[in-house]
Amino acid sequence: MTVCEKCGEEVIELNGRLELEDLYVGIIILKQASFSSCKNCHFLYPVETLQQIEKAREILIQQYINDYPIRDFVTSGKAASMLGITRQALNKNRRIRRGFIYKVDKSDNCTLFLRQSVELYKKAGDGRFPLFPEER
Ligand SMILES: [Zn+2]
Repeated sequence: MTVCEKCGEEVIELNGRLELEDLYVGIIILKQASFSSCKNCHFLYPVETLQQIEKAREILIQQYINDYPIRDFVTSGKAASMLGITRQALNKNRRIRRGFIYKVDKSDNCTLFLRQSVELYKKAGDGRFPLFPEER
């Protein structure tokens, strides 16, 4: 028997459909995933499941971002100047690389940044915002 690291209760290993709520993309569904759960804590995810979640989130983000019209995007040069940094600094920035500003990679080495996300990043240091439609 495995016990929960947090509360010491028995951990139940589960395998199957996993549905979770994400702050930015709404519901993420994995058809097949391993995870575990104890009575008290929320689901615990092994590394490979966390990677699956990351990947699914990234795909959903790209889908939502691609729905924006092209006029809502700026080039990396423009994004850099909006932030008052060089393009090189923009490309090297760890947080930005990790997706703190929504961006799409177009063909031939061209990355476009969502203007709204650049503005939010400038203001708050995090350009992410919920992309999924409000529930009615
Ligand atoms: Zn627990």
